Amino acid sequence: MSGLSEAAVAARSGRLGRVRERMAAVGVDALLLSHGADLPWLTGYEAMPLERLTMLVVRRSGEPVLVVPELEAPRVAAVGDLFVLRPWSEGEDAVEVVADLLAPVRTGVLAVSDRAWASSVLALWERLPGAQWRPASEVTGPVRARKDDAELAALRAAAAAADRVVTRLAEGEVPLLGRRESEVAADLSRLLVEEGHQRVNFAIVGSGPNAASPHHEAGERRIGASETVVCDIGGVLALPGDVGYCSDITRTVVVGDVPDEVRRCYEVLRDAQEAAVRAATAGTATAAVDGVARAVITEAGYGPCFIHRTGHGIGIEEHEDPYLVAGDDTVLAPGHAFSVEPGIYVAGRFGMRLEDIVVVDDAGRPERCNRVDHGLVELEPR
Ligand code: ZN
Ligand code: ZN
Ligand code: ZN
Repeated sequence: MSGLSEAAVAARSGRLGRVRERMAAVGVDALLLSHGADLPWLTGYEAMPLERLTMLVVRRSGEPVLVVPELEAPRVAAVGDLFVLRPWSEGEDAVEVVADLLAPVRTGVLAVSDRAWASSVLALWERLPGAQWRPASEVTGPVRARKDDAELAALRAAAAAADRVVTRLAEGEVPLLGRRESEVAADLSRLLVEEGHQRVNFAIVGSGPNAASPHHEAGERRIGASETVVCDIGGVLALPGDVGYCSDITRTVVVGDVPDEVRRCYEVLRDAQEAAVRAATAGTATAAVDGVARAVITEAGYGPCFIHRTGHGIGIEEHEDPYLVAGDDTVLAPGHAFSVEPGIYVAGRFGMRLEDIVVVDDAGRPERCNRVDHGLVELEPR
């Protein structure tokens, strides 16, 4: 990323305001962001996972300060007056630079990146013995989970690109029969890039009995006729002037005749996914949405074959808050973005999954970002 657009800077200044409201609400005096997605979300800067200390220090008021190794400073985009840059040179004590910035709150509550290096956190902890420590996600998690307009535009663009890949798959552009899963995965990865993704995160291709393993790594198995093939693909797509957002879509494919059991099972899966998407309205708990998908599958007798949660939040990271799972107490609200991806896995025989990204719109209604056909993808043998 070379620089943030004006809209991207404006969006971040809104995010900083919401972060500070949340800091006040949960009693955090300073937020310390190092590696991980919180930093680009708030500043546009993606820190390389170097051992050298990178840390954005956000107090409840005043300009945030980004402490960054001097050699990385040229990579930090100019972002208006969002934060002050404080490069540190080789030989300088970067931990002391951060500790000095924290002097006024040295006995306060400090929230540090969940993904910061332990070495940085331990060094700060030693330097600030009177402070109390919390994970930054207590501040940023719920704020990041509700996307602003810039983020929703990015998620929709990434989903549309993933849809175009599935369309090309459904049109038979990627041969399946007799080919290895790994070859199909490579083709799908190439199509993700062709359709605008900058990076491929994963391309799961699981055929036959492998389709019953939800995170199966595409391997040497050759795809046969009348087998279910679970294709779950995702990557990162950046709109001009901002950081990238993730896509994540799953469709299940069969080449040739579809066994009756598979067809019946797929109807159950489709009903479960449809019911869960419809249930995902503002005011509904994420756990309840999981319950809706699970009830449909359980009713049809496949309850024990649905062996994972119904979905996960998505944004800069492919998995982030909120999670659609029993026990999660997030109540959906406009801006929440997440996958709805029930699956049915019959061990040793076959599996299937149907996944779309859904956002709760301003009116509190679920909006599918993935609009490509939801049926079983049936291909002619050739
Ligand atoms: Zn997954
Ligand atoms: Zn997926
Ligand atoms: Zn997913």
